[in-house]
Amino acid sequence: MYEKETKKLKILRKELKTRIKGIKKTLTTEKSKDWAEAAVESENDEVLEGLFSESSQELLQINHALQRIDQGKYGECNECGSKIKKKRLKIMPYTTLCIECAQQLEFEYNKK
Ligand SMILES: [Zn+2]
Repeated sequence: MYEKETKKLKILRKELKTRIKGIKKTLTTEKSKDWAEAAVESENDEVLEGLFSESSQELLQINHALQRIDQGKYGECNECGSKIKKKRLKIMPYTTLCIECAQQLEFEYNKK
């Protein structure tokens, strides 16, 4: 069961790890002495840091999804326990919420 998904998630995980490594490397390389260049670099750093935390978050979700496959809980909504639609899992294989709950959460989030 979920062999395709497992494969997909593992490929995604590999890609993410490579991406994170690359970002880390760029972030830790020495900065330019030139202030104009340094300014551009620090702007880039902000973008990269955003990407970095996004990618790390995604990696966590992927690991979580793989765990859930192992436990036989994959494809179940974390909130309401109903089955997540295949179509949704195809687009977001690491999601833990069904579309209804995801929309609900987003709605609550935007209200704040
Ligand atoms: Zn749900």
